[in-house]
Amino acid sequence: MPSGNVIRGARVGSAPIRPDERHQPAPRQDVTYWCRNDHRTSIRIAADAVAPPLWDCPRCGLPAGPDEQNPPGRTRAEPYKSHLAYVKERRTAEEGEALLAEALAALRRRRGEG
Ligand SMILES: [Zn+2]
Repeated sequence: MPSGNVIRGARVGSAPIRPDERHQPAPRQDVTYWCRNDHRTSIRIAADAVAPPLWDCPRCGLPAGPDEQNPPGRTRAEPYKSHLAYVKERRTAEEGEALLAEALAALRRRRGEG
């Protein structure tokens, strides 16, 4: 697998690079991520940089994490919840009825009814 999209090399017309003389390459670290489809992705970042906790898998686009045994999304305990499920989590049915009655009453007042 190619090591990424890092642009290497010299500008046109520059002298051949002699690393010891021209510049010291910055220290690097390789960080490897796995997505839940077992795609492995390695990125190379500066050694003193903090690796991002997630990286988008370049093959399938899912978030990938640094823990091969526990990629993001695989061991998700909670199943997908609908918006309504979240609302029901926050509000009881009684609260919902009260809110609805309140809203209807306000609507009727505005319309000059009741
Ligand atoms: Zn993937």
